[in-house]
Amino acid sequence: MRYISTRGQAPALSFEEVVLTGMASDGGLYVPEHVPELSQDELAAMAGLSYAEIAFRVMKPFVNGEIDDETFRGIVKEAYATFSHDAVVPLNQLDANHFLLELFHGPTLAFKDVALQLLGRILDHFLKKRGERAVIMGATSGDTGSAAIEGCRHCDNLDIFILHPHNRVSEVQRRQMTTVLADNVFNVAIEGNFDDAQAMVKASFADQDFLNGTRLVAVNSINWARIMAQIVYYVASAVALGAPQRKVSFCVPSANFGNVFAGYMAYRMGLPVERFVIATNANDILHRTLAANDFSKKELVATLAPSMDIVVSSNFERLLFEAYDRDGKAVDALLERFQAEPTALAEAPLSRLRERFASHSVDDSTILEVIREAHHRTQEILDPHTATGYRAAERERGDESVPMITLATAHPAKFAEAVVKAGFPGVPLPPHMDDLLEREERYTVLPAELSAVQRFVAENRR
Ligand SMILES: *Cc1c(COP(=O)(O)O)cnc(C)c1O
Repeated sequence: MRYISTRGQAPALSFEEVVLTGMASDGGLYVPEHVPELSQDELAAMAGLSYAEIAFRVMKPFVNGEIDDETFRGIVKEAYATFSHDAVVPLNQLDANHFLLELFHGPTLAFKDVALQLLGRILDHFLKKRGERAVIMGATSGDTGSAAIEGCRHCDNLDIFILHPHNRVSEVQRRQMTTVLADNVFNVAIEGNFDDAQAMVKASFADQDFLNGTRLVAVNSINWARIMAQIVYYVASAVALGAPQRKVSFCVPSANFGNVFAGYMAYRMGLPVERFVIATNANDILHRTLAANDFSKKELVATLAPSMDIVVSSNFERLLFEAYDRDGKAVDALLERFQAEPTALAEAPLSRLRERFASHSVDDSTILEVIREAHHRTQEILDPHTATGYRAAERERGDESVPMITLATAHPAKFAEAVVKAGFPGVPLPPHMDDLLEREERYTVLPAELSAVQRFVAENRR
């Protein structure tokens, strides 16, 4: 198995290389050269297996023997032992045929743990084998930073530096990062906004001289291993509801499109999926593109579902590559145009997408209404991201005899602001986190200056 770029120009890479590389050198994203097949028999044989064993079987063809089976099984087992529910990602039945897939039982209470618990361990494995160390740098407005820190805190060969805007993330989100006191974890509060932090990380990737040759690794959702890890829960939940004999549909609260693209990969591998419903908040580029063929940037709106606040969905490029029949030149031309001006997809690829994908956009006042309505009907308190999914699933349900699985991407305690605005007293943090507000914190405040940040990274990496 080799990995190729969606722009068709960069060299093909092995699994090990693709995990250690972020964006392809031609500006594209890496995807597998062939989609491996899961036969009906292989799917049927997964019924009743543990999540870790299903994960091993689904991911094995992508890893391509570059980690031996016994070691990879161990890595997968360890990654998912950090989840607080024995099922790892339990299904919760809401009504006759609508299910929530609870992806928030990991260390930081959001679905990004599923991928990052695994990615940190895979990176550490390859670095150890090569006798190398690496530095991870990332900027966060909340969610990704803590999941990346939790995924790397036990990795001997990695140092992680996460930049967040000083005094501009919620207390729970800040403490989820700053109370991890491991020697290889460095939290930097930037005296600026998220865009300042993001720009400094981008500049550091563009010119890595300040690290004197040490590798800089990205753990954002363009890293193929994150997509790979997310394919697993589509397969596991569908099998639990009767696949391959029975079809299912999925509804996915979406932003950068990594999550729903993983679902599409599961479908391409052979999972019988009737449709994918893409839920967005007011930042609705995905919905506008699918519903109205309006593929254009719109100004960022700050919403009650902040982890879905994006202007551009970076992983949508991976789906475009498939829709354009893997024509890297056509994808490159489309995305160059998109960067410059509002544009549209060609007819054939758009109708191909519409065969399998539906979409719905949910604004803030509707999010609050949905949290109340879902509680009234099901007794569940949904987090605001999951609420967009709940509404989109109801509106774009399709064939009612097909089970609908809505992905619950965060625990409601993590986004208490929306829950309180919806009229509830709030949701307690789960037991393993109930002393979060008393734990010791450690972070360094730095000015929004690239040289100061790079000096801090260079001096503190081990
Ligand atoms: C990151 C995130 C999303 C969006 O996922 P994508 O893979 O970027 O589409 C949705 N909900 C929550 C809670 C998230 O943290």
